[in-house]
Amino acid sequence: MNLRSPWLSLILLGTLALALAFGGARLARRVENVRVERDGAPLRGFEEALQTELSRLEQLYEKHARLVANTPPDSDAAKTKKNAEWLVGLRQLSLIGARTPADAKNDVHIPIDARIGEELPLPAFVRGNDPGLPKKRIILPADELLESEPDRGWIAQPGQSTIFWQRLDSGRVAVLLINVEAVRASMNKRIAAWTGEEFEPVRVAGGPDALLAPDDTQLASVGNTTAQPNMLLPLRTRFGTWRLASWDRFETRESFHQPTLLAGIGAAVLVAMLGVFVFAQQRAANRLAAQRVSFVNSVSHELRTPLTNMLLNLDLVAEQVPEPAEARLGLVREEAGRLGRLIENVLTFSRGEQGKLTIRAAACRPVLVIDSVTAQFAASFERKKIALLRKGDAAEPCVLDPDALAQIIANLLSNVEKYAPGSEVTLTSIWENGVLIMRVADTGPGIPAHAAERIFYPFERVDSLINEGSTGTGLGLAIARELAQEMGGTLALMPSERGATFELRVPAPPVPEPKTAAA
Ligand code: ADP
Repeated sequence: MNLRSPWLSLILLGTLALALAFGGARLARRVENVRVERDGAPLRGFEEALQTELSRLEQLYEKHARLVANTPPDSDAAKTKKNAEWLVGLRQLSLIGARTPADAKNDVHIPIDARIGEELPLPAFVRGNDPGLPKKRIILPADELLESEPDRGWIAQPGQSTIFWQRLDSGRVAVLLINVEAVRASMNKRIAAWTGEEFEPVRVAGGPDALLAPDDTQLASVGNTTAQPNMLLPLRTRFGTWRLASWDRFETRESFHQPTLLAGIGAAVLVAMLGVFVFAQQRAANRLAAQRVSFVNSVSHELRTPLTNMLLNLDLVAEQVPEPAEARLGLVREEAGRLGRLIENVLTFSRGEQGKLTIRAAACRPVLVIDSVTAQFAASFERKKIALLRKGDAAEPCVLDPDALAQIIANLLSNVEKYAPGSEVTLTSIWENGVLIMRVADTGPGIPAHAAERIFYPFERVDSLINEGSTGTGLGLAIARELAQEMGGTLALMPSERGATFELRVPAPPVPEPKTAAA
């Protein structure tokens, strides 16, 4: 795609507009963690139901404990033990009534869940120091347990078994040593099973929530419950406190900062509009340029035919006119030749612009092409005191486009004629390994280094005194280089001590040998 192509500008500016729009949207994007208001009702409902369930279990346990306490111990201790074993956590069943160490011998203590060799503490009312009494004792308040109301109760001993006591009709008191850990474990099991269904509303309400056992283990949970809870609802029982933990729920919400977003989109729209504007302008400019080239092209075409006729007739007339007129006619012929070259350059340039420049390679002798071009300049060079020196001959027949070669040489010599009058010009032509090398070196004012490349651009002319008084289009060297490149070669300004030296290198393969018919 041509660099001046309007499409290129449109694509570039369109991409920039898109980048601005996306960049703006990215800058404007805000991601926030927003606390979501929760419906607390399911949690409260669950809390109530669980508290009821825990109280129910507590009462059930006490009921069972009373039953065990009221069952008189069998004469067979093993049987009594068996009867009592179904009460979870029961470690020892005692029937006590003694107030003196001597009576204490009549108290009954039946271990239910003692490890081998473990000595469970024996509950007693006595305080005395009878050496016959066991050392590990739990002293209970006799007045409270034997006389006052109510006739049963719980005694929690920190770090030790909890006690349930029941005054019996016999006047004695049944004392149950209970392992609270075991009761809790059993309650946990029951609650875990119960929670499986009851926790469902909480789950639907979208947690995170969790049910914590007294030892902090999670019996049920919903959502991510790793951090510290935001709320803890205690559910108290005599066997410990269960807790319902609840966390605030957060949601990531995406929003856009309006002013930034609008600024981004606004800038994108502006750039897009600029793109469309530039596209339209460039298209119009290109169309205009194409129209101009086409106009100049048509005019040049129109000029070429009459000019050719004029030159033809001049050649015919030259043979018939007397000596003085012949010189003037020569001048006319020269000027007509110049005009012809100008037209040829314009037509070549316009063909190049339209991408229609074609090279027609043919068998030719470069030296003859050079002869013919230098002949055109002979008279004007003489008048302008330009001495032409020829070196090398390149007489070998080879394959290249003779017209293109002629046009390149003519353009180079035309420049010498215009810019280096009174100088010496050396035209060297060498044919080397299938490459034609031609140098045109003059001893004129030369070309400043800064303009060495620029002079090959179309319409570029060195802005200096040298150009003063000499007309030109700035097309000659551009066309010469384009033709050289089309021929697969190069044309460059070479460094030189004096004047300007141009070097042309074009592939010029030898003419293939005609095939001899097989004998
Ligand atoms: P034009 O001759 O029509 O201006 P060209 O493309 O042939 O265009 O040349 C471009 C410029 O290069 C000229 O305007 C001139 O300034 C400079 N130039 C070309 N050849 C020579 C030369 N032999 N000596 C000095 N200057 C030159």
